Amino acid sequence: MALIVQKYGGSSVADAESIKRVAKRIVDTRRAGHEVVVAVSAMGDTTDELLDLAGQVAPIPAPRELDMLLSSGERISMALLAMAIHSMGFEARSFTGSQAGMITDATHGAARIVDVTPVRLREALDEGAIVIVAGFQGFNRDTRDITTLGRGGSDTTAVALAAALNADVCEIYSDVDGIFTADPRVVPLARKLDRVSSEEMLELAANGAKVLYIRAVEYARRHGVLIHARSTFSSGEGTWVLDASKKSPLVPEGATMEEPIVAGVATDLSQAKITVIGVPDVPGKAADIFKIVAKSGANVDMIVQNVSAAATGRTDISFTLPKTDAATALKALAGEQSEVGFESLVHDDQIGKLSVVGAGMRTHSGVSATLFEALSLAGVNIEMISTSEIRISVVVRGVDLAEAARLVHTAFGLDSDIEATVHAGTGR
Ligand code: ASP
Ligand code: MG
Repeated sequence: MALIVQKYGGSSVADAESIKRVAKRIVDTRRAGHEVVVAVSAMGDTTDELLDLAGQVAPIPAPRELDMLLSSGERISMALLAMAIHSMGFEARSFTGSQAGMITDATHGAARIVDVTPVRLREALDEGAIVIVAGFQGFNRDTRDITTLGRGGSDTTAVALAAALNADVCEIYSDVDGIFTADPRVVPLARKLDRVSSEEMLELAANGAKVLYIRAVEYARRHGVLIHARSTFSSGEGTWVLDASKKSPLVPEGATMEEPIVAGVATDLSQAKITVIGVPDVPGKAADIFKIVAKSGANVDMIVQNVSAAATGRTDISFTLPKTDAATALKALAGEQSEVGFESLVHDDQIGKLSVVGAGMRTHSGVSATLFEALSLAGVNIEMISTSEIRISVVVRGVDLAEAARLVHTAFGLDSDIEATVHAGTGR
């Protein structure tokens, strides 16, 4: 008997039929003799609809009330799921985040889990019940208020529950079959990976892969939680996220042997580029610029500084950031133009980022050469480059991104023989 945590995303519980299908899957797991704890997302696009509604009654909704509102989405799905399980003759009990002991800091809309005290969940399990927990939400002890963990937070709920309950596996269900070598909607010949290491998964998630949320992967890595990403719509094996050094009796032998140089190609159209033109090339200017950007709340990703022109002693500095942060960052920079002494600002929101990720890069040379060669054959111009130990990212024109991803995917020998099936298509 194992303790299995399962997380179902919004697309898996989008309507009554889907909820019944998920209930059956949960009951089957229970029937097989396992203890089951389920973290569930809000139905379909509920969270977006609630956000939209909030925006209609207030231009800037109060963060506390917004969390009260958004957390209700998951309460609907958890109760319906418990009812569906009851009608199949099984005992199930639903719990809000605070009842489940999800203790967070007080940051509304982006709360961090600080402690998990699943006393009531353990009791319910001991009484033979299936446990359903509302994802994405928690409780702060000081303010005694409900918090939410940020978009996609149900993955983190599931992983945190798995860690606190010492579960054997955390299964994350969505409408895709697992982690792919690329987004199958962009690269139709993408292949499902049997296994991916948690460090590769972190890089993929950080660079645009949407199947697992980065905070959940981080949490799992820190607490040694085994993740199995799989599809609600098929019964096949998904992708195991685990490190080579870790063994689990649940993971089939074959899945641990795969060791390609490149695990996958991630694409990201959510970033914009800002170029600060004519920055005096003297110590302290980069510090000034990025202090201003950081203060505006923007999360900077790539940075490139040109060699300064000898004639002027000035240089250009470009950086990328989420599109949604660009307007505030630009405004903040413009406000300090004379203090910093730069000449002008250029905003470009038509960029795309392509990243090649693989732990094998540590020990294999030539990965960047293969990448650049593939892009050059495609006639795609590279605008920025950044690297980590196991990743190379390039910024290209957004319109070129899909084609570039397909060619790079082929160049690294990742193509499958058949097109991937995308079931409902949101990846959540
Ligand atoms: N319902 C929340 C969202 O849509 C949390 C989640 O789905 O994980 O962001
Ligand atoms: Mg959702």
